[in-house]
Amino acid sequence: MPDKKTAIVTGGARGIGASIAQRLAADGRRVAIIDLHEADTATTVEAIQASGGDAIGIGADVSDSGAVETAVERVSEELGAPTVLVNNAGIIRDNLLFKMSEDDWEAVMNVHLRGAFLMSRAVQAHQVQAGWGRIVNLSSTSALGNRGQANYSAAKAGLQGFTKTLAIELGKFGVTANAIAPGFINTEMARQTAQRLGVSFEDFLTDVAKEIPVGRPGVPDDIAAAAAFFTSDEASFVSGQVLYVAGGPRD
Ligand code: NAD
Repeated sequence: MPDKKTAIVTGGARGIGASIAQRLAADGRRVAIIDLHEADTATTVEAIQASGGDAIGIGADVSDSGAVETAVERVSEELGAPTVLVNNAGIIRDNLLFKMSEDDWEAVMNVHLRGAFLMSRAVQAHQVQAGWGRIVNLSSTSALGNRGQANYSAAKAGLQGFTKTLAIELGKFGVTANAIAPGFINTEMARQTAQRLGVSFEDFLTDVAKEIPVGRPGVPDDIAAAAAFFTSDEASFVSGQVLYVAGGPRD
């Protein structure tokens, strides 16, 4: 019987990742939260423990291969071999193309693409050994193109191709890989976008809601629900898919 219990959620200190971590713990997984600074994971870890779940927090930069190897090793020792991985850590460095620096480009590529690659490569060893695994990558509606996000949209589109390839390579080992592409979700990242556009966050939320068919901005729990499905046992025949969770249709 493979151990299906231990999950890793990157960038789980806040926002969407924190919500996914809490949902997976509620669904019976032991959860390791990997974020830049271990201290920042304390709130989510304590919330999970207070609800009777098992969780640890680890400080690591997902774009640093040594840190990733050490972190995954620690998860394996302290919580058990990780067989569920949610690549959620992300940053934005928005700018119009003519003003975008090479640093802006590389920082975004490193966290989203290199980070998902390093984490998936480290975790798949445990998944293959268990003969069971679930990988979920956080893409975005920006993968379809978004003004001011040449770097981010390229990374998020890249994650969709990455996901499909993992699905093809790892399927025979009982491992599925899927991507969630959120639309607008009310988090700190969204607040940064409002700041860049020079509008108050409240006005920004009202304007955004007008463009969303269901008439409201998304919340982190909307994404956690999709992650819970993709990481469930029941989803074993769903792989290589991109699910837009955006309050309306996307191509
Ligand atoms: P957030 O900024 O609130 O949280 C991101 C977390 O990732 C933070 O805790 C941060 O410390 C962590 N992180 C950043 N770089 C890291 C690194 N190198 N190593 C480890 N951890 C790192 O963002 P969020 O809104 O919760 O977004 C989560 C994911 O969802 C991201 O991948 C984001 O691109 C994606 N997404 C968000 C939205 C949205 O509207 N908020 C929409 C589409 C996609």
